[in-house]
Amino acid sequence: MDKTQQYNELLKSIDGCKKCRLCEGRNNIVPGDGSINAQVVFVGEGPGKDEDLQGKPFVGQAGKFLSELLAGIGMSREDVFITNVVKCRPPNNRDPQEDEIETCIPYLREQIKLIKPKVICTLGKHALKTMISKELNISPSHGKLFKKGSFHFFAHYHPAAALYNPNLRSVIQHDFVLMKAAVEKILKEEEGTGIE
Ligand code: URA
Ligand code: SF4
Repeated sequence: MDKTQQYNELLKSIDGCKKCRLCEGRNNIVPGDGSINAQVVFVGEGPGKDEDLQGKPFVGQAGKFLSELLAGIGMSREDVFITNVVKCRPPNNRDPQEDEIETCIPYLREQIKLIKPKVICTLGKHALKTMISKELNISPSHGKLFKKGSFHFFAHYHPAAALYNPNLRSVIQHDFVLMKAAVEKILKEEEGTGIE
C-alpha cells in the first residue's frame, strides 16, 4: 500500500468515530488537511464553528492568520499538514477535556507516523501540553525547538491569540521565521549524516 492508500485507510478508521462525547455535537469530523508528504505538521486545539461546518481545519479567522503566517515564510497550506489534538468540535468552543484528548490522540499519532514530518508545530497551550510536556507553559516556550525521542517540536502561540491581542501578531510572525530556520537547520544536519 502506498502512502496515499495508507492515509485513506486511516481516514476510513476515523470516519464516523464515536469514541468520545465530542461526537454528539459535531456536524463533521475534521481529520486534517494538507500534504501527507509535509515536512511540517501543525497541531491546533480543536475545530471551531467554521471548521465543524466545513470539515476542514483552520478555515475561520484564526485560519486566515495561519495562512498569512505561512505566506510570510514562503510556504502555503498545501506544503504543510494541519490538524488538531481533537478532531471534533467541543461544544461552544470550550477547551477539550483531558479524557477527550486521550481518546482522540491515537489518530494524530498515526497521522504523524505516516507523514514523518521534520518538525511538529504546536499551536497554543493544549497542543503544547499534549504533544511536548504538561509541565510547559506557553509564554516561556513559544519560539523554541524541543527534542523528544526522535521527534522535533516547535512551540507557537495559537494564531487566535493575535485576534484578541494584536501585540502578539509580530511575536507570532517572528516565531514562524525562527521555526523555518530550525527546519532548515535540521534538514542540513540530516544531509550531513546521510539520514533521510
Ligand atoms: N482553532 C483550532 O485550534 N483549530 C482549528 O482547526 C480552528 C481553530
Ligand atoms: Fe472520535 Fe476524536 Fe471525534 Fe472523539 S474527538 S469522537 S475520539 S474523532
